[in-house]
Amino acid sequence: MPPSPTERVLACQTLPSLPAVAIKVLELTRDPQVSIARIAQTVQNDPALTTKVLRTINSSFYGLTTPCPNVSRAMTLLGLNTVKSIVLSFSLVDMSRTVGGGEPFDLTGYWRRAIYSAAAARALALATRACDPDDAFVGALIQDVGMLAGFAALRGDYTRVTSAVGLDHDALAALERSELGFDHARVGGMLAQRWKLPPELADCIAHHHHPEAAPPRSESIVRTVALGGYAAGALTHPEPKPKLGSFIVSARKWFGIDQAAAREIIEAGARGARELTKTMDVTTGDPPDVAAILLDANEQIAATQEALAEEQAALRRTNEELSKRATTDGLTGLFNRASYDRELHESMKRCKAAGQPISVIFLDADKFKSVNDQFGHQAGDAVLIETAKRLREVSEKIGTLCRYGGEEFVLVIPGASLDKARKVGELLRVAIERRPFDLAAYDIPGVVLQRTISVGVATCEPGAPSGQWTPEHLTHHADEAVYAAKQAGRNCVQWKDTQGILGAVETSAGIPTATPRRVLVVDDDPFSIRIIETAMRSRREFIVTAVMSREEALAALAAPATFDLVLMDRNLGSVSGIDVIREVRASRPSTEAVFVLMSGRTSPRVCAEATAAGAAAFIDKLDFSTNTAACLDRLLSLARPTAMAA
Ligand code: GH3
Ligand code: MG
Ligand code: MG
Repeated sequence: MPPSPTERVLACQTLPSLPAVAIKVLELTRDPQVSIARIAQTVQNDPALTTKVLRTINSSFYGLTTPCPNVSRAMTLLGLNTVKSIVLSFSLVDMSRTVGGGEPFDLTGYWRRAIYSAAAARALALATRACDPDDAFVGALIQDVGMLAGFAALRGDYTRVTSAVGLDHDALAALERSELGFDHARVGGMLAQRWKLPPELADCIAHHHHPEAAPPRSESIVRTVALGGYAAGALTHPEPKPKLGSFIVSARKWFGIDQAAAREIIEAGARGARELTKTMDVTTGDPPDVAAILLDANEQIAATQEALAEEQAALRRTNEELSKRATTDGLTGLFNRASYDRELHESMKRCKAAGQPISVIFLDADKFKSVNDQFGHQAGDAVLIETAKRLREVSEKIGTLCRYGGEEFVLVIPGASLDKARKVGELLRVAIERRPFDLAAYDIPGVVLQRTISVGVATCEPGAPSGQWTPEHLTHHADEAVYAAKQAGRNCVQWKDTQGILGAVETSAGIPTATPRRVLVVDDDPFSIRIIETAMRSRREFIVTAVMSREEALAALAAPATFDLVLMDRNLGSVSGIDVIREVRASRPSTEAVFVLMSGRTSPRVCAEATAAGAAAFIDKLDFSTNTAACLDRLLSLARPTAMAA
């Protein structure tokens, strides 16, 4: 495989190398046992370097109050790391001279960016304490070392690219990659490894164009160095505003630096760079007019602030939206199942501690599947939304209404006794039944549906055993009560109390859509009675009583106006049902009840006999299980509503 462009650069013979003294100092400082004297001696072996180090240490950049006479004293005063960073800095300057001499490489521009970055990065690290200021300083100073390598290897081919981006360093890496097949960050990072620089320094070099990609071990220092680069851009670019904006935005994002502190860091960076330019003896061009940059940038800062405020507002909105989505149901806007679990848990704890009851009301739409089946899913959705709306109107100030799932809703009412909850349950039931759902309001014109819900109420009273004071227990009881309501024919309220006793709430009178028909079933076969009762309870209109003998039937029918409809089995053991009809008719000629004879087999003769005895109709018992709807419709039309139900 041919070598990659990066490998070709790194294989170049004229590549810059770190001066021996720097390599030695780096090596010594890797040894935790090393003495200060040993390192000081190594530096002092190079008299020119020693002079420069002492000049730097005694410059105002380090702010010593009394002059420092030698390297080992400098190490005690400023620390080993500071001295190491100064030695490395001078080594870099020396190295750049060996590379850049006499060629059209903009060494001034290079050092300008390096020095301003380093001074700003150090000021930033001092402010944030996110990393060691001396490490940040060296990291920023060395970040572009790959450029020296690129130039050493390619000369004019490399400067063509650097000239094309001009002073906009941010654009350099991308152009290097597209034009030359490598970029200075990657090459520099590899050089750093070759030179055995500490890994954090290598990371600063490798990731300074993409600080977000830095490994966690060096995240803080890489971000500090990158910010140093943005500050340098703000201080040295002819168009400082966007660079200043990047600095402010990222400084806030990464380190929570406010605008005033950001300005101070820019100012400190500029001051430090002026100082360093002198002590390190490099040319960095004319110093910037910091006041003008910051003044001029007020506008930019305001715009950035505005952008930040907008960004934060958008973030807040997103967070609110997310938390809303996490707690509410998208279709109905009610709280969702997770909210129910939370709310019930917390309310139960509070009520138990306060010695108050708590009630839960389950609400399940009746025969909801048929809406989807007959009118489509969209109509089903509209019915759910309208159901939720009506339930909310009733329960708004009473408790927390949630969509439990599908066509099931649940209301939590802290402090409500069973009695109160039953009343609320009935109100909710009536709110659905009271008027038909006109889906025109949901863009489905021409569909008007009469809907009902079944309601289950359960309560935990203060005196209840503590095993019952659990959300699971209460939810289970309410669920059982709904199930009982379904069994009882739907569109009704059933309850389950603390003792586990089930009961029904009497349905409010005067509801036109569900005028009750009181039905007496007379049949000696318990299995038949079950089938008939089950079928009739699917319609709320029927209130069914069953008896199994002639005697019981006569007793039940003795009182006036007790039943609207009597379903009489043809064979009551040894007695004929037709005879019983005749008997009742004879003894109570004014009875309002409608008599219907039931049999397993029909014949014209039996029909005629039944009619003669006073039966209004004859039905096949099998119809209750195989032809239920038509059978019930027929019975409904036969039985007149009574005065009581009007
Ligand atoms: P019952 O009276 O016994 O409760 O009968 P039901 O038809 O209401 O009950 P079942 O559980 O058989 O059917 C519930 C239906 O609700 C089935 C499901 O497709 C439908 N459903 C559940 N969630 C939604 C929804 O968000 N939108 C629509 N359109 N339908 C839904
Ligand atoms: Mg249902
Ligand atoms: Mg269901």
